[in-house]
Amino acid sequence: MSDAFDDLTAANRDFASRFGLAGFDGIARAGVAVVTCMDSRIDPLGMLGLSPGDAKIFRNPGGRVTEQALEALVLGVHLLNVQRILVVPHTRCAMASATLEELRARVGESAGQDVSWQTFGVVADQEAALRDDVHKVTSHPLIPESVAVGGFLYDVDTGLLDRVV
Ligand SMILES: [Zn+2]
Repeated sequence: MSDAFDDLTAANRDFASRFGLAGFDGIARAGVAVVTCMDSRIDPLGMLGLSPGDAKIFRNPGGRVTEQALEALVLGVHLLNVQRILVVPHTRCAMASATLEELRARVGESAGQDVSWQTFGVVADQEAALRDDVHKVTSHPLIPESVAVGGFLYDVDTGLLDRVV
């Protein structure tokens, strides 16, 4: 059957033929968890010099610390060896450069229908949001003080991380 996924499943067979990640136990071997944006310009492992198996990665639009992100971090800290957490939004993020009305207008134009019911987590002040997000992690009752938590802004034009919190 030929379909939209043919190139990807072919690449997967090639990947599996050279597969070297079997037998991993699923812990974060470098003790790292990263919350970052879904943006395709971000390579969360590569930007930190890490490899598969080293880190837990949680991604969403904007790289926000949502309830699900906190769920992932609690599991990471208590069951998966996470000792360092990086929250990493980035420059030129669509979630931080448009208003809710603008995003709804753009998606509505693409969808050809009213999308006023769809929520988008837009960010008005990226640095303030990052401080809030880091605080959500550090103040969580199930994240112990021994866990290091940092807030960084990733520059998609230079590849550099800038520590904000
Ligand atoms: Zn983004």
